[in-house]
Amino acid sequence: MLNMNVVEFEKIISEKSEIENEMYQLMKELYPICRSITGNGVRKTLSILRRYIPLQIHEVPSGTTVFDWTIPKEWNINDAFIKDSTGKKIVDFKKCNLHVMNYSVPVHKKISLEELKKHVYTIPEQPNDIPYLTTYYDEKWGFCMTHNDFVKLSDGQYEVFIDSSLKNGSLTYGEFYIKGERSDEILLTCYVCHPSLCNDNLSGMVLITMLARYLNSLTNRYSFRFLFIPETIGSITWLSINEKKIPEIKHGLVATCVGDSGPFTYKKTRMGNTELDRVVNFVLKNSDKKFKIIDFVPYGSDERQFCSTAFNMPVGSLVRSLYPLPKEYHTSADNFEFVKKENLSESFAIYLYILMILEQNQIYKNMNPKCEPQLSKRGLYSKLGSTKYKLKKDMHEIVFLWILNLSDGRHTLLDIAEKSGIDFILLKKSVDILQKNNLLKISELKNYS
Ligand code: ZN
Repeated sequence: MLNMNVVEFEKIISEKSEIENEMYQLMKELYPICRSITGNGVRKTLSILRRYIPLQIHEVPSGTTVFDWTIPKEWNINDAFIKDSTGKKIVDFKKCNLHVMNYSVPVHKKISLEELKKHVYTIPEQPNDIPYLTTYYDEKWGFCMTHNDFVKLSDGQYEVFIDSSLKNGSLTYGEFYIKGERSDEILLTCYVCHPSLCNDNLSGMVLITMLARYLNSLTNRYSFRFLFIPETIGSITWLSINEKKIPEIKHGLVATCVGDSGPFTYKKTRMGNTELDRVVNFVLKNSDKKFKIIDFVPYGSDERQFCSTAFNMPVGSLVRSLYPLPKEYHTSADNFEFVKKENLSESFAIYLYILMILEQNQIYKNMNPKCEPQLSKRGLYSKLGSTKYKLKKDMHEIVFLWILNLSDGRHTLLDIAEKSGIDFILLKKSVDILQKNNLLKISELKNYS
């Protein structure tokens, strides 16, 4: 099996049109499913993802205590509508699942317009968009619709129907673990609880799936763990069941909102100075993409739980335009116009670059540390000794000198890349050449923390 060396990395990145098509197709397949924090929508989603990776499916019963929380009853829905007095459907769940407030309890009755208005939610500032709302821990019912349709409603009787169920069942999540050479883990998570929304959560799901499938085809130094969990309650559940595994997790990323055209936004780990924070900073700085890096804040997605006081895990979050929230966020406008294929493959490449550096960020030892080795006799140095010879940062000679000088058993490859400004891929290729010439070897002092 292959290791994620730089040649492999360059190959997969060059095949990006294939990957972006696959990601986009998968997203199209998952889009219509009505997901929630529990229920058959999640199960169906995970069963589709199992075509790509051998996900293990976990079911945690309703009523289970997970730290300060309790797994809620399971919610499922078949159909829902609002009919006007003529019997015409003016809101139809089958046309768009955002029309029903997620976790609505069942209802079937005829009500006045005045009564209906108490249960209808719109966004007056975005009159063409349907909002996405949830009522997980408050047993009520509601509909969401465009403000333009809402203002057209006239007096009269309306039939409201929500064919849902809220019963004891379980919370479902998916997990995939790839054993590496070491037990140290890299955690990659996404959430699987949003219904028909493309960027806010489908993009994360397809990204993590494709990364997992690719990493599963390689031999990795790190072990990798992938979680497909409902947001908040899912990460709390996983942490409460797997507390013992937490110390093994050396780096983690929460992936969501990676399909829009906005700049990459990296939210640092709570510690703010981990190896992961440095690697992401390096990758974004050396990409030609727009980006911003922000400090950890205790709101957002599942990083809130991973970085809660007691755990303080080295988990960050890499998204596109999330802060400030784009207007499409949590509305029907978060669709296939908002998410673009090329953004998905760009995000895939950035994530993979980060993982490749984490995999390759080792410490080396110069085997000839007393003065420089004579590179020219090994064919590694230009024999032109002219002073007019222009030194370029990317010349192999210069790269060799940087590597040899800093390979004192204390500097990682990332340290060398940061100090020298040399591209990481070029650096790693040069390391391989020096190793072949017995001038360098991996230091025993591997720095994994
Ligand atoms: Zn969301």
